[in-house]
Amino acid sequence: MKLSRYLSSAIFFVLVNMPARQPFTALCQLAARSRLHDRADLHVHTTHSDGNYTPAQVVELARRAGLAAVAVTDHDAVGGVAVARAAATGSGVEIVAGVEITAEFHGRELHLLGYFFRTDDGPLTAALDRVCRGRVERFQEMIERLRLCGASLDLRDVPPPAAPEALGRRHLAEMLVKQGMAGSVREAFARWLHDGGRAAAPKLRLPVGEAVALVRGAGGVAAYAHPPYDCTVEALTELRDLGLNAVEADHPSLRASRSRELRGWAKQLGMAVSAGSDCHGPGKHAIGACTVSTEELDLLRPKR
Ligand SMILES: [Zn+2]
Ligand SMILES: [Zn+2]
Repeated sequence: MKLSRYLSSAIFFVLVNMPARQPFTALCQLAARSRLHDRADLHVHTTHSDGNYTPAQVVELARRAGLAAVAVTDHDAVGGVAVARAAATGSGVEIVAGVEITAEFHGRELHLLGYFFRTDDGPLTAALDRVCRGRVERFQEMIERLRLCGASLDLRDVPPPAAPEALGRRHLAEMLVKQGMAGSVREAFARWLHDGGRAAAPKLRLPVGEAVALVRGAGGVAAYAHPPYDCTVEALTELRDLGLNAVEADHPSLRASRSRELRGWAKQLGMAVSAGSDCHGPGKHAIGACTVSTEELDLLRPKR
């Protein structure tokens, strides 16, 4: 883990967990604000997908961190954007409309970040609804597969999700823990729900070219989320030629050397960069752990 990332995680842990009015808290808040006032975290999940923070909590944490902007990027869902915007009124934090679309590139899952699009765009919301309906069907199929594996869930105990798009493997894992069939979420994934696991069913994925076109058709820009280490400059070139605007060059999964390489490729290919914590709630990656500068954010904005 990069030292700067470790330190920022540590600062935010302290910020979130300390009482409000102690002098040291004020000092930490000041330090964070001065460091992040010209930064933007462009990858954050909320309770509108598999995150644990509500959109209002995301706004509050971004404000406390002193961020200039935060993008709400739920999986295949845009409902959290309007809620976050309403909560952000008067906070000084810009809420960037975002989404993380489940897409497919050469037979593999690719997460495509969309930014700055119209959240009420017809074709985009229809496609996202289709992906979300696929999630509901997949959820039901995985419950059936778990039953065949001997792990019958008591469905009366299913907590109502914040939104239908919130349904995913994590929710099943949490139910398995709650009902005593697994000791932890990690164990539930290891036993049944990991990629290719006995109870894991494939997700509906949009072809990446279609997903890029939908985001751009809605007035937005598209970025490649957390590119895997085997993503080459040739693959990135192919994606750029499909209309991809940017690459997520800083993310908790990326080493500093890889971040530099991705920024170099983006420059070479005339693409913008994005960065984000991919925060899913308290714990691993705090809001503000990975950011772009406001200059980089401006380069990412759609050219009108
Ligand atoms: Zn992702
Ligand atoms: Zn994500």
